Amino acid sequence: MANNGACKATDCNREVIAKGYCRKHYRLWKAGEMPKPRYKICTAENCRKRRFKGSLCEEHWNAAHGSKAAAAAPAQASA
Ligand SMILES: [Zn+2]
Ligand SMILES: [Zn+2]
Repeated sequence: MANNGACKATDCNREVIAKGYCRKHYRLWKAGEMPKPRYKICTAENCRKRRFKGSLCEEHWNAAHGSKAAAAAPAQASA
């Protein structure tokens, strides 16, 4: 069965629905009421991944710089 893991909010083990949060905490996150991650996040629109270089995550950095590094990384099918 598909299991996205547990909500990353403190003391919450509900099933994740999005962004690493359960339904309840995802609503809070969207409302801006969840604490910010300790690390800085990608500045690309709708992306909250950890920064890789500069102000971008690895995915967006590769997209912006045309690196082939992404292709070399082992693909993990999420299906
Ligand atoms: Zn939660
Ligand atoms: Zn990004």
